[in-house]
Amino acid sequence: MIRPIFALVAVIACLAGIQAQPSESFDVLIRNGRVMDGSGNPWIRADIGIRGGAIVAIRRLPGARAARVIDAADRLVTPGFIDVHSHAAEGLVRQQLRQAQPLIAQGVTTAVVNPDGGGPVDLGVQRAELEKGGLGPNVALLIGHASVRRAVIAGANRAPTAEELDKMRALVRRGMDQGAFGLSSGLFYKPGSFAKTEEVIELTKAAAERGGLYTSHIRDEGNYSIGVVAAVQEVIRIAEEAGTIGVVSHAKALGPDSWGLAHAITHRIDVARARGVQVFTDQYAYEASSTNLGAALLPDDVAAPSVEHLAKPDTMSGEQRAAFNQAEKIATENLRRRGGAAAIVIAHYRPDPSREGKSLEQIAAAQNRSPVGEALEMIARGGASVVSFNMSEDDIVHLMRQPYTMTSSDGGLVLLTEGKPHPRNYGAFARKLSLYVRDRRTVTLEHAIRSMTSLPASVFGITDRGVLREGAAADIAVFHPAKVIERATYTDPHRLAEGMAYVLVNGQVVLDDGKFTSALPGKVLRKREL
Ligand SMILES: [Zn+2]
Repeated sequence: MIRPIFALVAVIACLAGIQAQPSESFDVLIRNGRVMDGSGNPWIRADIGIRGGAIVAIRRLPGARAARVIDAADRLVTPGFIDVHSHAAEGLVRQQLRQAQPLIAQGVTTAVVNPDGGGPVDLGVQRAELEKGGLGPNVALLIGHASVRRAVIAGANRAPTAEELDKMRALVRRGMDQGAFGLSSGLFYKPGSFAKTEEVIELTKAAAERGGLYTSHIRDEGNYSIGVVAAVQEVIRIAEEAGTIGVVSHAKALGPDSWGLAHAITHRIDVARARGVQVFTDQYAYEASSTNLGAALLPDDVAAPSVEHLAKPDTMSGEQRAAFNQAEKIATENLRRRGGAAAIVIAHYRPDPSREGKSLEQIAAAQNRSPVGEALEMIARGGASVVSFNMSEDDIVHLMRQPYTMTSSDGGLVLLTEGKPHPRNYGAFARKLSLYVRDRRTVTLEHAIRSMTSLPASVFGITDRGVLREGAAADIAVFHPAKVIERATYTDPHRLAEGMAYVLVNGQVVLDDGKFTSALPGKVLRKREL
């Protein structure tokens, strides 16, 4: 009889040990939250204990102590958001923008940068520059196809030779070894547009060898060249032949001619996924995109006329006049494709900031000139960035509802004095939560949070983030879903989103009861953390 009694005593002692954890201590303790883990599951009530930058406990933790206790006060507690298509890298290396307040104010704790085939070729240099002065959020790098191509064959409009392709492969491999999460391309933009699909497949294979994925600003988002459906099909082919994940970046159907094609796009993706191809999309939910005027109106290998020729057309040679007429014709058609001069609003134009915030139609009328003539002159004078109203709400909603659609901003970080940028820079995530979850009920809160957290983490292979679980990095957002709101508008874009209460990056509080701290705990993540 002695043994069972001992065993019973041992069990009781053990149970008492489990329950009695009054002395358990943490660096940070988040109490009384509704914990939505990012997986798509509804919230549960739990406390979160954080130690050494990581989540070490998620359960009721009565009696636990911590250097810092945050009372979530029944707010939602989610993983920090991951922005999978961000132009923030240029801003993050600037002292005034390192903290990335526009991102933190929305709960974004990781930005995936170097999209659209761009960014530097040497990611080691970029990493050092980003890390040098500290960062608000974490950053994940991509290696850009166009940058790699430019490094090897400059702006040549041709296929690389076998030897040149080898050099490109080597640069992609080096980028992966420097910690990239994959290859990005921008096949709409020069010189990415000069690449045939086969070249991109070969380079994607080089990324895939090292566990990298492929993301693409696709060759055509409307009906400029091959059409948006064929361009999505190209991503599918690249993902399939390279044997990795393909992401259609900022998925859309651009321009009235293409409206309604979101259904054809998702059909192609569904068919591909059914046969085992890993295809995903991301989206910023606005009816306007943003790009530069030159790419919007003269995307192909057509040079804009010079300022001199525009001023004095009679000085043009016959050849120059033919080229000018050709550019004018193409720009006219592309302006129509994008919904006309009223649908293009100037975001940033160095030679004349008074044009910022005005439509091309308004500017042309004030100059008593044709919109295309005015646009060509602005391109010739160095170009402008534009906000281009070109998407239909039905397409936006249809893409958002897909289980494979992640959330992105496509936004950059700029100073208040730098034009009137697209409001997505400040509001993409807050807008989705306020307009599409709360006001319109387009998707559920669980669906939206998943699209910002565990889905991107899973797609990009950010294995220790995007979820709330023990062992994960403590990137956390605490907010009341009823209070999150996008404040930025097209006419008044430089306004931070509101409603986030607390944001933690790597266990450090960067937003404290709605106020920014001075902490810069962000890391440049590595695909393979050793
Ligand atoms: Zn893009």
